[in-house]
Amino acid sequence: MKTEEYRQILTRYWGFTSFRPLQEEIILSVTAGRDTLALMPTGGGKSLTFQVPALHMDGICVVITPLIALMKDQVNRLKSLEIKAMAIHSGMSAEEIDIALDNCVYGDYKFLYISPERIGTRLFQARVSRLNINLVAIDEAHCISQWGYDFRPSYLKIAAIREFIPDRVALLALTASATPSVAEDIMEKLEFREKNVLRTSFERKNISYMVKRVEDKATWLTGSLEKMGGSGIVYVRSRKRSKEIAELLAANNYSADFYHAGLPQEMRDRKQSAWTAGTTRIIVATNAFGMGIDKAEVRFVIHWEMPDSIEEYFQESGRAGRDGKKAFAILLHSSSDRKQLENSLKKKFPPVRRIKDVYEALCNYLQIPEGSGKNTVFDFSIRDFVSKYRLPVIETFNSLSFLQREGYVEFTEEINNPSRVHFVVGRDDLYRFQVANELFDDFIKLLLRSYTGMFTEFVAINEDSLARRSGLSRDAVYKFLVKLSSLSIIRYIPGKKTALVIFTEERLERKALVISSNNYLDVRKKHVFRLNKMIDYVESATRCRSVLLLDYFGEESDRCGICDVCRERNELDLSKYEFDLILDELKKLLSRNSYDAAELVSKVSLPQEKVIRVLRWLLDHNKIVRDDRNLLSWREADLFTR
Ligand code: ADP
Ligand code: MG
Repeated sequence: MKTEEYRQILTRYWGFTSFRPLQEEIILSVTAGRDTLALMPTGGGKSLTFQVPALHMDGICVVITPLIALMKDQVNRLKSLEIKAMAIHSGMSAEEIDIALDNCVYGDYKFLYISPERIGTRLFQARVSRLNINLVAIDEAHCISQWGYDFRPSYLKIAAIREFIPDRVALLALTASATPSVAEDIMEKLEFREKNVLRTSFERKNISYMVKRVEDKATWLTGSLEKMGGSGIVYVRSRKRSKEIAELLAANNYSADFYHAGLPQEMRDRKQSAWTAGTTRIIVATNAFGMGIDKAEVRFVIHWEMPDSIEEYFQESGRAGRDGKKAFAILLHSSSDRKQLENSLKKKFPPVRRIKDVYEALCNYLQIPEGSGKNTVFDFSIRDFVSKYRLPVIETFNSLSFLQREGYVEFTEEINNPSRVHFVVGRDDLYRFQVANELFDDFIKLLLRSYTGMFTEFVAINEDSLARRSGLSRDAVYKFLVKLSSLSIIRYIPGKKTALVIFTEERLERKALVISSNNYLDVRKKHVFRLNKMIDYVESATRCRSVLLLDYFGEESDRCGICDVCRERNELDLSKYEFDLILDELKKLLSRNSYDAAELVSKVSLPQEKVIRVLRWLLDHNKIVRDDRNLLSWREADLFTR
């Protein structure tokens, strides 16, 4: 039986004995050749749903994923299981990509990870039809939707891959974050032959969600962490604040550290490992902290401020309690937060004039003349760019993302690329060279002893370890490599760490540069919509927090009984049914008219004493307000103007 064979693969490679919920259904769906959209929360085990079937089938599985660091991580993990996997991304030279694709065609590779902007390139398209593709997996598939919170235009190119694969090969789209409308959009943009959504519940029964209204967050935090056991995360919205709060916690004798994307990679890795190992108890971080977190026993995730959307909140808070034991997701809220949100909204949507300024500055910075630059890749340091042109960092960053959305440029995250070497000559020619050039003989032998595979592909090398092994200085090693390269014996690509910008179009003159309302005003509208949903969550005093979150993702559920709203309602000692009944009545009455308390209570045909309890509770939670004539009215959540 097929399923038995899949389970054997699961055990043979990963050592797991059984599938998690839905993994098997997804595998059966894609192996039957059906396009599939799989929705599973983070940590649910999405990777195995394409890795297991791909290992069962002949041919190679193409995996499209947006972050290069994540891609490298997965490829290394597969390699450590003795599975042949390859990565192709914009951080590689054209020659490297060429060789890598050749190896995929002839070298029985099982997985090809590729960043989406590579799919549109001629080089990839020329080779792809020679690959025997058995499955196409699209990770973080919500990036294809303009309505999602993390749209990447290059994802729109993915559907083009259909031209190059046989009809029986399925597309598998995976995400941990899709509202019903985003799910529809994903299937449409990927040109699903038939709609087909498989989803697990997103319910997290062991997480107790809470919103704390506190004016003095610092005091609340230092006071409350004491009562909370175990380790956790405090999310903040600025790099500066992450440091400040970590220092505050340390001054109060907590084991705490901070983390953000502005820190050197080595330091970030070190901080993350210390937290994962439990040496650091609390990490205060921006949303850059998240990728590749593999820690099950996280007892709390506290948000110093609300994020911009429920998607982000759910993902970040969901890092709590992966071990299934009780955990807290707490969001702090104070009256001044609104002002901050308004400011950040302004910075998120710089005026169109500013976006055009940034475009021109960028082209000048990269020295691209009008009419040229198409399909060129540049190293790019935003820090250097803004300081040279004296631009404000956040607004510039956001302007660049509008240029990306509009399809003029693409940006990658900072990539840490090691040095790489590939022998251009065959073994025989190399031998002749060694004999004729004694000076290089020892060094070439050292290379051949230290690494394998250099005749067929670019292999990552490390100059420092070559220096250590040979007793040469690092500089001497470098000079040998450069010399061999100039003699056309090897190709040597020195390592570097950089972000890239890829020009997808030639440079346009200012007049021709369009920021369409589709990509600006509509995006703003959607952004405000998501923000308002987030505010709804914070301000809600009557609906279970878990129900609210799940409802946002289109899932119906019962109230959790353990969030702050449920707990307070539990204390009211009314059944959910009674409470909702009275609540509805009161709301209906007050939406038509204003009453004083006695009159209002008398109009509800339910036990008075219970009605009073609910009324008092609604007054306490500001859902019902009293004006200066003592009349009551229903207060809608105070939202941003839409
Ligand atoms: P996602 O992509 O959905 O966030 P991953 O694919 O990264 O999740 O998997 C999360 C973790 O769960 C990984 O450590 C993985 O090894 C583990 N895992 C996945 N499937 C199983 C399974 N059937 N049994 C045990 N562990 C699993
Ligand atoms: Mg994943």
